[in-house]
Amino acid sequence: MSFESLGLMAELLRAVSEKGYNTPTPIQTQAIPLILQGRDIMGGAQTGTGKTAGFTLPLLQRLFTTAKEHTGRRPLRALVLTPTRELAAQVAESVDIYGRHLPLKSTVVYGGVSINPQKIKLVKGVDILVATPGRLLDHVSQRSVDLSKIEILVLDEADRMLDMGFIRDIRKILALIPKQKQTLLFSATFSDEIKKLSSDLLKSPALVEVAQRNTASERVTQVVHPVDKSRKRELLSYLIGSKNWKQVLVFNRTKHGANRLSDQLNTDGITAAAIHGNKSQGARTKALADFKTGKVRVLVATDIAARGLDINQLPHVVNYELPNVAEDYVHRIGRTGRAGNEGEAMSLVCVDELKLLSDIERLIKRDIPKVIINDFEPDPAIKAEPINKGRGNQQQAGRKPSRNNSAGKKSASARNDQRRTFKERSNNQSQSRRTTGQSHQRGHSHAGS
Ligand code: AMP
Repeated sequence: MSFESLGLMAELLRAVSEKGYNTPTPIQTQAIPLILQGRDIMGGAQTGTGKTAGFTLPLLQRLFTTAKEHTGRRPLRALVLTPTRELAAQVAESVDIYGRHLPLKSTVVYGGVSINPQKIKLVKGVDILVATPGRLLDHVSQRSVDLSKIEILVLDEADRMLDMGFIRDIRKILALIPKQKQTLLFSATFSDEIKKLSSDLLKSPALVEVAQRNTASERVTQVVHPVDKSRKRELLSYLIGSKNWKQVLVFNRTKHGANRLSDQLNTDGITAAAIHGNKSQGARTKALADFKTGKVRVLVATDIAARGLDINQLPHVVNYELPNVAEDYVHRIGRTGRAGNEGEAMSLVCVDELKLLSDIERLIKRDIPKVIINDFEPDPAIKAEPINKGRGNQQQAGRKPSRNNSAGKKSASARNDQRRTFKERSNNQSQSRRTTGQSHQRGHSHAGS
């Protein structure tokens, strides 16, 4: 299959070949012809599948081939909504790159930066706007944007937009867009809420799905390194140093934890930067740019940052802490192994996190091999503590435990389960799944199923 055979015009084929793509990815092969025909799309695309080009290329072609004469300011004809600023910036960059040989204009708006330069660009007139929902509504209320001429609407990472509480903003935006339009909705997961949104919004959509839902990329090698919580930082520094990793994305559950870890790594002589929602947009952009160019070796991120990051050929992702929501694990490790490259995802798991680990393994329907690194064996005497109340909370010093804290409401048996040691619990889990081999094995070889 070639890009030519998908029906793309010469200007787009040129841009694609200049970008170095030879063959379309599966989502591109499926989605591009359907979008060119004007169909609505419900896209279930695994992270890193090439979905951005999958919708951007045909969107550009349709806008170009159906362009009408206009007087005055050029009307805004396509809107792409994304959950995060980083993703908005990356989609906008793709629109620029793929559309470089076409006379279409585009811009991007997101929060955390001054609104005025964005207004100036919008008022001059653009064909395509990439936006996060909140900032787009700011522009609507300041009348710097008119959504009444939209012909194509893209909801990118719709599940994350709903997770982040944007549903009301999205509904407000939809009310301002013509009913008659082409809609492309992309989502990594399909909750009932997403299904409801799509049935309200999409007209006889073509379902385009390239990977089973909630599965992790086959190209990513996954491994769990059991380790005590107090020794995670030491183990991370050891792994980075001994394996001579040049570029590693590390996930932390909390913003404070991300800052602290990045400071500690810098103290260890490993260049690191943190990226999360409390940082100014300037600091986020700089951290990402320094990471991409290799100026810093480690980028420590929270989950919000996870969705939007697209770093070419990112080889290593480390879960310094497992996410509270199992689906976030799939998104985190989807930052590596993108577009045909191999990737490696390591999780440093302490005894407190075994429940989170078994939730993840249930979601991805497989056991992740457990490999104990020599000299970092977990101390079997350490008992699990609930994450909200236990040692994990030291990161959130000064915060009172919530009265609604679910850990506080656990039954006696659940509390006992939490208190069992790493070894007891993981042995039990292995047995219950009837895996072959041992869950824990000394040295650097893989164990488990
Ligand atoms: P996405 O899933 O859209 O975030 O894309 C993931 C990565 O794949 C990006 O770095 C793209 O530049 C890259 N990519 C997209 N399409 C192709 C292709 N046909 N061949 C190789 N790389 C691609």
